[in-house]
Amino acid sequence: MEALDLTKRPKSKLALQPEWADVCYTCGTCASGCPVTGVDGWDPRKAVRAALLGLEQELVDSRWPWICTVCGRCEYMCPQGVKLNSLIRYARTLRERDKVPGVLHKGVAMCMEKGNNLGIPEFDYLFLLADLSKEMEEGTVEGHHGEEYPAYPGFYVPVDKEGANIIVTINSKEPMGEPEDMMFWWRIFYAAKENWTVPKQNWEGVNWGLFTGDDDALKEQCRRIIENARKVGAKTILYPE
Ligand code: SF4
Ligand code: SF4
Repeated sequence: MEALDLTKRPKSKLALQPEWADVCYTCGTCASGCPVTGVDGWDPRKAVRAALLGLEQELVDSRWPWICTVCGRCEYMCPQGVKLNSLIRYARTLRERDKVPGVLHKGVAMCMEKGNNLGIPEFDYLFLLADLSKEMEEGTVEGHHGEEYPAYPGFYVPVDKEGANIIVTINSKEPMGEPEDMMFWWRIFYAAKENWTVPKQNWEGVNWGLFTGDDDALKEQCRRIIENARKVGAKTILYPE
């Protein structure tokens, strides 16, 4: 029987490491623990085989890489160290941006333009922080389930505070719809007498560039956060998400 010529193996855009074709046992351990195995007929083992056998476009065009929760269980369980998470995220990267499902790409574009995924204007954001600061200070905050909170005398949200130890990013859905959730962190900072701050601009803490496979947006958002931290001299960046 003629020996298999591995140099003639189809080249896949997704085969980040061609040796996966040799190391993958096709054992299916990855598929057995995956919460979305079988959805639309895909599973992580099949994704690897598709990538290595020249069928990557089928994977890229399918819904499956977007249904994957990127939980990492497949990669964790793989006895051969195949980088399944990287593979699936890369499949997202190869999707045309106008075909990214749902509102995700719109959020990325909004973040690049306005500094947060939901396009909250700076004035509204600062007004909200001032308003919430007052409620915290006066003890007029009511929790989701009617619980009462004490007053926090002297409390305010420091914005772009020079010399802060911690700079805190924010999930834009909180100022938009669940502002009380930001207060959980604020109460801890108050109790710990922490020296903290939030950025005035580019404060979004949820990086949809990461989830949508948009590497340029991912890097730009990280660059902005780091720039914010350097501007005030903060030693630690906190991503509550
Ligand atoms: S667990 Fe690893 S070796 Fe097994 S089929 Fe999945 S990728 Fe291949
Ligand atoms: S990362 Fe995706 S493919 Fe892997 S186990 Fe989780 S859901 Fe399944």
